[in-house]
Amino acid sequence: MSSLTALDAQGQRLLALLVAKLPSARPANPQTFIGYKEAHDRLGLPQLREKFGESLKAQGLLSLAEWTHETGKPAITGLVIDRSSLMPGKGYFELFGRQPEDFAWWREEIEKSKSFDWLPFLPQEPVPESPAAVDIEGSTDRAEVTTYRIIRDTLLARRVKQLHNYECQLCGHTIILPDGSRYAEAHHVQPLGAPHNGPDILENIVCVCPNHHAELDYGARTLNQTDLRPAEGHSLGGRYLAYHNTNVHKAP
Ligand SMILES: [Zn+2]
Repeated sequence: MSSLTALDAQGQRLLALLVAKLPSARPANPQTFIGYKEAHDRLGLPQLREKFGESLKAQGLLSLAEWTHETGKPAITGLVIDRSSLMPGKGYFELFGRQPEDFAWWREEIEKSKSFDWLPFLPQEPVPESPAAVDIEGSTDRAEVTTYRIIRDTLLARRVKQLHNYECQLCGHTIILPDGSRYAEAHHVQPLGAPHNGPDILENIVCVCPNHHAELDYGARTLNQTDLRPAEGHSLGGRYLAYHNTNVHKAP
């Protein structure tokens, strides 16, 4: 790969976010795509420009679009849309030499993106970082789904763990690994995947120690706001806690 066609780190992070979005994106329905602001927030980016679209462009969107164009890959950046117009920016069509609003082409690129193997182009997991916590539930899912879960872990769950300094929100425990790094796990309160179909958002993720993670996965305990240690910038959605208590928790 020449330096001209290498994807930079910000482009890789955005790519990972979009690849995680692909399974739930329906090519004919841009409502299921991702908004500029949402993508911007989920990557934890500082706002560099007045508009989120412009800010995101400067922090990965443009480099990812150019990379897909130069290397002949599906134009996956069409997944990023303006939530009010439900359209990607004009530049998306222009870059690929398309007429503005070429819906048929756009839809086809998203179809292609869904079946393309993006894995070799995703960021490599740094070894000392916490092993990806794959929820115990759903371990029978297809390998592909597991892969997307791990990608999610690198982006959002890691953010939650960092916000809590890797301390369990239930007991405050943190594990110090031999290399000095801190270890905790992230749990989706309303689990991802069927039959629960919980969302992959900060409000649905808690940072927990492995013991509490297992208790939650197996429905061995309830979970309430008052049980949870808070952190600046992270709050749990009441509806996800209620979902856990009603549908995941099993009374002995
Ligand atoms: Zn704990």
